[in-house]
Amino acid sequence: MNNTFDIIVIGGGHAGVEAALAASRMGKRVAIMTLDRAKLALMSCNPAVGGLGKSHIVKEIDALGGIMGLAADTAGMQYRRLNLSRGPAVWATRIQCDRDKYNDYICGVVADDSNIEVIEAAAGRLVVKSGHIVAVLTEEGESVGCRAVIIASGTFLGGLIHIGQKKIKAGRYNEKASYRLSESLREFGFEIGRLKTGTPPRLDGDSIDYTNCEIQPGDIPAPLFSYKSSQPSKPQIPCYLTYTTAKTKEIIGRNLNRSPMFTGQLNSTGPRYCPSIEDKIHRFPHKETHQIFLEPEGAGTNEIYPNGFSTSLPEEIQLAAMRTIIGLEKCKFTRPGYAVEYDYCPAYQIRPTLETRRVEGLYFAGQINGTSGYEEAAGQGLMAGINAALKIDGREPLILDRSESYIGVMIDDLVTRSTTEPYRMFTSRAEHRLNLREDNARDRLMGYGRKLGLIAQGEFDKFSKLQVATREEMERLEKVRLDVSRLGGLPLQISRKNNFSLADLLRMPKVRYEDLRDLDPYLNGDDPDTRKEIIERAEIRIRYAGYIEKQRREIDKFKKMETEQIPESFDFESAKGLRAEALEKLVRYKPSSLGQAGRIEGITSGDLSALAVWIKRHRQSPPMAKPAPQTT
Ligand SMILES: Cc1cc2nc3c(=O)[nH]c(=O)nc-3n(C[C@H](O)[C@H](O)[C@H](O)COP(=O)(O)OP(=O)(O)OC[C@H]3O[C@@H](n4cnc5c(N)ncnc54)[C@H](O)[C@@H]3O)c2cc1C
Repeated sequence: MNNTFDIIVIGGGHAGVEAALAASRMGKRVAIMTLDRAKLALMSCNPAVGGLGKSHIVKEIDALGGIMGLAADTAGMQYRRLNLSRGPAVWATRIQCDRDKYNDYICGVVADDSNIEVIEAAAGRLVVKSGHIVAVLTEEGESVGCRAVIIASGTFLGGLIHIGQKKIKAGRYNEKASYRLSESLREFGFEIGRLKTGTPPRLDGDSIDYTNCEIQPGDIPAPLFSYKSSQPSKPQIPCYLTYTTAKTKEIIGRNLNRSPMFTGQLNSTGPRYCPSIEDKIHRFPHKETHQIFLEPEGAGTNEIYPNGFSTSLPEEIQLAAMRTIIGLEKCKFTRPGYAVEYDYCPAYQIRPTLETRRVEGLYFAGQINGTSGYEEAAGQGLMAGINAALKIDGREPLILDRSESYIGVMIDDLVTRSTTEPYRMFTSRAEHRLNLREDNARDRLMGYGRKLGLIAQGEFDKFSKLQVATREEMERLEKVRLDVSRLGGLPLQISRKNNFSLADLLRMPKVRYEDLRDLDPYLNGDDPDTRKEIIERAEIRIRYAGYIEKQRREIDKFKKMETEQIPESFDFESAKGLRAEALEKLVRYKPSSLGQAGRIEGITSGDLSALAVWIKRHRQSPPMAKPAPQTT
């Protein structure tokens, strides 16, 4: 092993792998230091990628040259498009993957990358000189030198598993926890908090009776994440939906006092949006049943994931309650459910580049920043890898803003609000979501990917052609005019105007592109499959043009606030007219723009005006805070 690398990535999970691949493609020599080289990007829980809000992140990762979308498309067993009855901003893709196939695919990509070396070891200590990271010491004491480090250690830091009264020191089930690295971070002055998450037991598929469960087939054609993927060659495997019963409620209700969440044994905050079954039964006592989705974990395994039944009750209670669910009366467990508590670093300690404020060249990505989810982790990993590589080259960082990406929304939320519960992406978090659709992820981000060398020229040119074809199709739809007397069959409320363009028709409620087929001489005879993507892109842009334009104006306003930069070492304490609470928050979060300052919880418009006046007055020579004492 050559013992010095440009970048060491600690952790080969979803964040670590994206970070390493991006940095490697930007020409950096990278080491992934991880506990088990065979478990790269392992899906520790449900092997599903995407879903509401999360799928947008995957599309963005793909547009920036990341790997998650391709891996999910390749390992998919069931492919679905969600939310189609609503507007295109919230359409989402979800793929149920084969866990082993996903993991094998990623291991193969990493093995083929000659710039990446995988070191199977536990990182124990960080070595910092003059405030800059210079090496990582493994728990065995071996030193590995570097110019930057990305910590992507997931739920392993200080991991503690709870099953009933039982406590087990572990990062995930059957995997050891990592305590030394947390200690090292504390020594450098990082604040460390505690969060928790949970998982359901796994079921032996042969012990399930699906007769009374609702089948959930995949969609055909399969919706895919990556523009590089093609349709799956194998038939899709269905998932099933079932329900808890009155008996489930009775058993769990009677045993709440045996759940570590209710005994006071487990006090850290878990994800509100993904409560355990005991939490659901306690919080919604009027609800008689809860949905449970039965989802396969892979083609080579019989294990089934009962989505919706996360629990940390004692194992015998888990089993008794599970056997009251329709179709699961004779089920057998392959392993029990559990809750896990772990350390995280509240994200006010990182910059929007994901570099820590305390140690130069040290980046945090993924669950360590308080997020939860494979996609959230992968999005941060990609950005940390890009920014660490740019910093080594002395180039400007890449910071995506809230108006151009969900990844930007997530990182901005983290650095301005420092989540105190596991952060998951939802479309509702993005105020500019009409501009942040799945279908335009490449329009928004592929240019950055190309500039950084993460997207090949050929791929970029192909996409540019698609953009031109979309524009041409939109122009054509505006130009082709129709006589109203020919519109009899369409479900329309037509005004007196008798000269319509096809685009006018598309803007009407309930009219879809398909409805134009009989009216459009060009579409007639055209094979829609070959132009599917052009058609979908043109249709969305025409139908929602009014809203999109309104959003563009809001984005212009937002950009103005974002361009009012605040230097990193700006002395907020010298600013007049700020309330004490505002001052404390500004010093803690160190916003990089006036816009970002406005998004910090507790900052009022009065504080913002005072700050704006102060910044304007001192534009030429802003008052600078004294530098913090250097860590060694
Ligand atoms: C019980 C449970 C259930 C979950 N359920 C879901 C779910 O259904 N859907 C979902 O999207 N997300 C789920 N999550 C969250 C998801 O697993 C994480 O958010 C995601 O995996 C985080 O990615 P990461 O890259 O930050 O870390 P991880 O994927 O956890 O990877 C961490 C990596 O760091 C390595 N590591 C740790 N410490 C060290 C060290 N000291 N030295 C070297 N290597 C180290 C580990 O070996 C591992 O490779 C669940 C998590 C848990 C624990």
